Amino acid sequence: MRPTGKLHLGHYSGALESWVEQQNLLGPTGSSAYETCFLIADYHNLTTSLQTGEIYSHTLDMLIDWLAAGVDPEKSPVFRQSQVKEHAELFLIFSMLITSARLERNPTLKEQVRDLNMESLTYGHLGYPVLQSADILLYKANVVPVGEDQIPHVEITREIARKFNNQYPHPSHGEVFAEPAPKITKFSRLVGLDGKAKMSKSLGNTILLSDEPDEVLKKMRTAVTDTLKIRKNDPGHPEVCTVFSYHSKFSSPEQICSIEADCRAGILGCVDCKKACAANIALELAPLLEKRRYFEAHIDLVKNILFEGEKKARIIASQTMEEVRAAMRLGEISGGNQYGTVKC
Ligand code: AMP
Repeated sequence: MRPTGKLHLGHYSGALESWVEQQNLLGPTGSSAYETCFLIADYHNLTTSLQTGEIYSHTLDMLIDWLAAGVDPEKSPVFRQSQVKEHAELFLIFSMLITSARLERNPTLKEQVRDLNMESLTYGHLGYPVLQSADILLYKANVVPVGEDQIPHVEITREIARKFNNQYPHPSHGEVFAEPAPKITKFSRLVGLDGKAKMSKSLGNTILLSDEPDEVLKKMRTAVTDTLKIRKNDPGHPEVCTVFSYHSKFSSPEQICSIEADCRAGILGCVDCKKACAANIALELAPLLEKRRYFEAHIDLVKNILFEGEKKARIIASQTMEEVRAAMRLGEISGGNQYGTVKC
């Protein structure tokens, strides 16, 4: 996840919730089903903004949201891309394994260019999924929990892994990389308050995980609803209503049924519907807010979590790069070990 500061409900329902679920999943023997690690993609921030002045404060803000939502640093190291140099190294190698035409076909990129009205693309932005492939494969991930918009990137990662394995079989254990599978979250595309396809900081249509209940209600009042339901008693169409899409995520099954029926029958007006929705969201966010306050008051603890996570990540990343260099026969020394590698 890119460190863009405080997170919103889209990050929560599209990624964070399933990260935590996956982190806590137990296998048949009662131990963790997965080893998980979570990356702060600070290099990726540069694809849409060259401003780096606030990157550290945004990183800490985002990390606090992660911790508040249940990311457990004892189980899952958290670390910044820029602090584990192997990300840049593997990105360079991977960028030779994919064509620019393939990257230009990436639908997520096309969507971003459209949403942000971008007139031209940098070389690095085009290579966004290549760097992401390095992020994923350095840790030999089998499963990547992602929102819908990231599926094309996991597909590119699989292609790059396959290409690398075919081109460079490892001298002793064959394939260096497993092909990772995307694990799609149920609410992988949460609509923004303005009814636009995606809740997104750059579109300014968000509810933050750190919003207090009165702020949630204030924002909810601005949410776009069914434009054909003008008066309270007009029958509504929940399937086109932004607020109903939030109910489907944050309200109980019984509430969803009664809200849907009452909206269609013209019994429930948008004002009351929004109040109920805001209350349910605030209820879900209450434990996160409490934990956020704790971590804000213990910021050294947060910084230390990052420091420890980066130490762990460097160990894994350097082991993978040793295998990559051995498979590619980079750094062989004549007369030395046949697959000797350069130690940096
Ligand atoms: P980003 O901030 O673009 O790096 O997104 C981080 C993660 O949050 C990605 O897995 C996205 O798919 C997910 N995400 C961001 N916004 C939304 C949204 N509105 N709905 C669902 N998932 C989202």
